Amino acid sequence: MTMKSSADFEKMKIAGAVVADVHAAVREAAAPGVTMLELDAIAHEVIRNADCRPSFLGYHGFPASICTSPNEVIVHGIPDRYKLQDGDVLSVDAGAIYDGWHGDAAFTMAIGEVPEPVAELIKVTEEGLWAGIAASQPGNRLGDVGAAISAVAAPHGYGVVREYIGHGIGRQMHEAPDVPNYGKPGKGLKLKPGMAIAIEPMFNLGTAETKVLDDGWTVVTGDGKLSAHWEHTVLITKKGPVVSTLPEPMLVSA
Ligand code: MG
Repeated sequence: MTMKSSADFEKMKIAGAVVADVHAAVREAAAPGVTMLELDAIAHEVIRNADCRPSFLGYHGFPASICTSPNEVIVHGIPDRYKLQDGDVLSVDAGAIYDGWHGDAAFTMAIGEVPEPVAELIKVTEEGLWAGIAASQPGNRLGDVGAAISAVAAPHGYGVVREYIGHGIGRQMHEAPDVPNYGKPGKGLKLKPGMAIAIEPMFNLGTAETKVLDDGWTVVTGDGKLSAHWEHTVLITKKGPVVSTLPEPMLVSA
């Protein structure tokens, strides 16, 4: 785990704002009939126009600038010719590099009308993310973060994915430490000013089990039920966690 200076954090905020722009552009474009490849092209253009590079393109051979994960796909979906349909649930994960520093964030949206339990899955997964961010106060531990996230899922009976988790971030998209979406309060690494972590709960309507498809990337739910994924990059400062992957950085009090 490398500690970052405030100058490093400023660069991560620039990368993060570009990721927020990608999210806005993809959200605006995502509609029935639009393909995953079209969304990827939009994301790529936003990143390049901001003088950034896409974190994902070429990462261990990943062929695109964003991950597009529809319906039972949890994460790491490769943009393809699939056309969105009314009633789909789409997760989009994007990363940008500014002057060597990363921002990484994901959101899930409904395409058109979805049944109430599906809308609730999307909303509650986002709430899980914000509970994890609020728990990321300096002096708290990663167990506090994970426990806060899974406590949001528990009353709904959602499967909380365990095989894929959040991570440290900085000059690398993925750094130490691991940031699980479960844990014991008071346990794990203590958060200190200068750390940066990506928090990313994945909640499933059914089982927490996962499978990887033959392409070696696409992670789907074990039972084929829907999944949602939300993520922000979070900078730990003396004053508290600052979310960098928003149009403006946001300090979150406990
Ligand atoms: Mg991530």
